[in-house]
Amino acid sequence: MTQITHHIPDEILLAYAAGTLPHSHAVVVAAHVSMCDTCRAALSAHQAMGGAVLEESASETVSDALRARVFDKLDDTPPPEPAAPRRAGIYPGPVAALLGPDWQAPWKSLGFGVKQAILSEGGEGSLRLLYIPGGRAMPEHGHHGLEMTLVLQGSFSDDEGRFGPGDVEIGHDALEHMPVADPGPDCICLAATDAPLRFKSFVPRLLQPFFRI
Ligand SMILES: [Zn+2]
Repeated sequence: MTQITHHIPDEILLAYAAGTLPHSHAVVVAAHVSMCDTCRAALSAHQAMGGAVLEESASETVSDALRARVFDKLDDTPPPEPAAPRRAGIYPGPVAALLGPDWQAPWKSLGFGVKQAILSEGGEGSLRLLYIPGGRAMPEHGHHGLEMTLVLQGSFSDDEGRFGPGDVEIGHDALEHMPVADPGPDCICLAATDAPLRFKSFVPRLLQPFFRI
């Protein structure tokens, strides 16, 4: 059985419950919650509390327009799913919903076996799948804003620790890191970013041998 050790921080679960996360990040939360009993329980608590606050506010000072906007926003947020079998053995429901009918990801090669599949891009940030062969490094990159990476298969390690299936790594502004897929099954991750990743010298790195065992 897989043990999830890196969870969604509480403030991000709250933002998800309030419907204020960008869509790409909300998909990562929904996918993690579908794999994690702990966060699913925490989220239902937040949602019950949020609902009570909204109802309370509704009778008091909140204008109809504001209330409508909040409920609209909630409608945009992918709903959390109960634990369910993953499609193709890899993709949780909220991710499978963004793939084709046979759950094939639109993989594009980045070279040396590393692939990415962009699931959505735009003003709200991007959502992509990354495929890193076991034992190989992800390209070193920095972030603008908040990056959330959910492991779907295999595992990777970096300065923050080891991340296996269901684990989420939160990367903040100015973090620069180079995760390395652990030897073993190829690593597949779901990554949400506020803005395109800034890849650092990607091509020179590809020309170096970068196996790290
Ligand atoms: Zn969790």
